[in-house]
Amino acid sequence: MSFTSLGLNPALLKAIEESGYEKPTPIQLAAIPVILKHNDVMAGAQTGTGKTAAFTLPILHHLLSQQTTSTVKCLVLTPTRELAQQVFKNIQTYAKHTTIKSVLVYGGVSIQPQTEAINAGSDIIVATPGRLLDHLINGSLTLSDLQYLVFDEADRMLDMGFKDEITNILKRVPANRQTLLFSATFDDGIFKLSKTLLNDPQLIEVGERNTTAKDIEQIVYTVDADRKRELTSFLIGSKNWRRVLIFTRTKQGADELAKEMCKDGIKTQSIHGDKSQGARDKALAEFKEGKTRALVATDVAARGIDIIDLQYVINYELPYVAEDYIHRIGRTGRAGKAGLALSLMSPDEEWLLKAVEEVLNTQLLPQWLPGYEPDLTKPPKSGRKKQSPPSKKNARKKALGVQSNRRKR
Ligand code: AMP
Repeated sequence: MSFTSLGLNPALLKAIEESGYEKPTPIQLAAIPVILKHNDVMAGAQTGTGKTAAFTLPILHHLLSQQTTSTVKCLVLTPTRELAQQVFKNIQTYAKHTTIKSVLVYGGVSIQPQTEAINAGSDIIVATPGRLLDHLINGSLTLSDLQYLVFDEADRMLDMGFKDEITNILKRVPANRQTLLFSATFDDGIFKLSKTLLNDPQLIEVGERNTTAKDIEQIVYTVDADRKRELTSFLIGSKNWRRVLIFTRTKQGADELAKEMCKDGIKTQSIHGDKSQGARDKALAEFKEGKTRALVATDVAARGIDIIDLQYVINYELPYVAEDYIHRIGRTGRAGKAGLALSLMSPDEEWLLKAVEEVLNTQLLPQWLPGYEPDLTKPPKSGRKKQSPPSKKNARKKALGVQSNRRKR
């Protein structure tokens, strides 16, 4: 089935064609007709499946059939600045042959230019919850004419502790609206949230729940923690990998690894919540341009990053929150392109791998790389013993530095 047969506005079809999309992805095929019929939607869609176009195109189609007014008609909420930027960029691409205007609203940067952009008139706002609420509370934005409300990566929004902000935002939007909720993973929290947000929603699921894209090869190497850096640099160097996204659990760990890898001769930068937005944007741009070979990121900082041709993801440390594994490796293998996700597991991280396997419902079968076999005669370090995973919310706050990230909004 083609985009044309979905009945989308010709101005959108032209932009889709120019983007080089030949046919709709499965989530687009499933969601676009339902959204066009004005239904509320709860959609399970992994990163990289084309979900942004799945909700953006039908909304743009509806907006094009309306009289132009300067009020905000659509709000897209995302958990992080990076995802907001990504969604905004996509909307601009798809709307480039229309007069529809969008404004991007997120924290960590000055509020004034955003207020000016809002005042200049906008049909669509793409925002992170904290900064959006700042604008609503100080009166620089009203959403009384809102028709479409989209929650992108709702699971991550809940994990990051945005529940109160969501409740507060909901009090300020009309009840009579179309609401679309997209989530990579589903759990009780998401179902509970959906009950407060959605009106008789259609459930759309493409592929199985909590699974990773099929085009990603997953490898796990067991290696001692103190040899992980050496192995990472060795693999990148000897296999001539370019554009490698590496995940660490902590901001400090990201900085240290980037510094050490530079010493190994691999040009590497790090991004995390303690870096200014400008520094994060610059690091990401240089990575995309191929000026840096590896980018070390914490989970929060990497969320929403869309890098075409990103072939390699390395889990330098396995995540405390097993679902993050899906989000991490979803950075590669996007839109049908093949990808490799390599996890470096130290013997004390086995319990984290078990949690990941449980979420994936798959066994990952760790291997030893000759020359980097773990030294099992070493006595376990303190903290090497098996622990129970911290609660989702606390683990995320502790391990990913969400607290400081949000304070900066
Ligand atoms: P998303 O899941 O929205 O982050 O999209 C992942 C990537 O797929 C982005 O780079 C999109 O530009 C691309 N994409 C979206 N829809 C299509 C399509 N129908 N055909 C090819 N690429 C697409």
